[in-house]
Amino acid sequence: MLKLTNIETYYGQIQALKGIHLQVEKGQIVALLGANGAGKSTTMRTIAGLVKPKQGTVEFLGEDVTGLRPHQLLRKGISLVPEGRAILAGMTVLENLEMGAYHRKDSRVKNDIQNVMRRFPILEERQNQLAGTLSGGQQQMLAIARALLSKPKLLLLDEPSMGLAPIIVAEIYKIIKDIKEEGTTVLLVEQNAKQALKIADYGYVMETGKIIAEGTAEELLKDERIVEAYLGKK
Ligand code: ATP
Repeated sequence: MLKLTNIETYYGQIQALKGIHLQVEKGQIVALLGANGAGKSTTMRTIAGLVKPKQGTVEFLGEDVTGLRPHQLLRKGISLVPEGRAILAGMTVLENLEMGAYHRKDSRVKNDIQNVMRRFPILEERQNQLAGTLSGGQQQMLAIARALLSKPKLLLLDEPSMGLAPIIVAEIYKIIKDIKEEGTTVLLVEQNAKQALKIADYGYVMETGKIIAEGTAEELLKDERIVEAYLGKK
């Protein structure tokens, strides 16, 4: 479904990605792991069109989409929930959800909003409340719900568990599993690798702008060198 070939991305003179090869198969959850600053967010931002790679190609559903703008990629079915969630704090929960579907022209938006609210009852309860007044976990749910309203084929989740209490993390992970079961493919960035590999089909480990290991969740968890160096936490 998604294929990155030899991607190099720079911030000015700083090379953040040094030739990334990565593939996501339809229907999978793929985890992108690694320490702080390894380049995970930059990989996500490159796929979503927020930064342009200097080298390499991004293919989505067999089409070369390298260099397309975020709204074009959204229309093609790629939706990013960025690190830090980026909800619109001064707008209500309902307005945030409506923003998630702003580019859609079909008549099912209202219906879909009702459906996401059924899935996230807390958002229904708080629909007229300003999004900035929600707790961290609720804001993460809102960010995911908003992304789902764009009807993505590929959902990019950048550190969805960041800063959340374990019980809330468990809830978010259950939601990610459900999303996969409903047919949406997921690329998931996590620092908490063990947690991510519990639900992932496949994983990539990054270090300083490169992929240094990859494999099924089972393979990565069996590799002592990897576990010790990268999956040690929690
Ligand atoms: P984190 O978990 O901290 O987000 P990460 O693995 O997602 O880590 P990136 O955020 O992709 O890593 O960062 C990769 C490299 O690019 C780092 O060296 C970082 O300092 C650098 N970098 C990231 N964003 C910028 C920016 N806007 N300008 C300059 N350098 C940046």
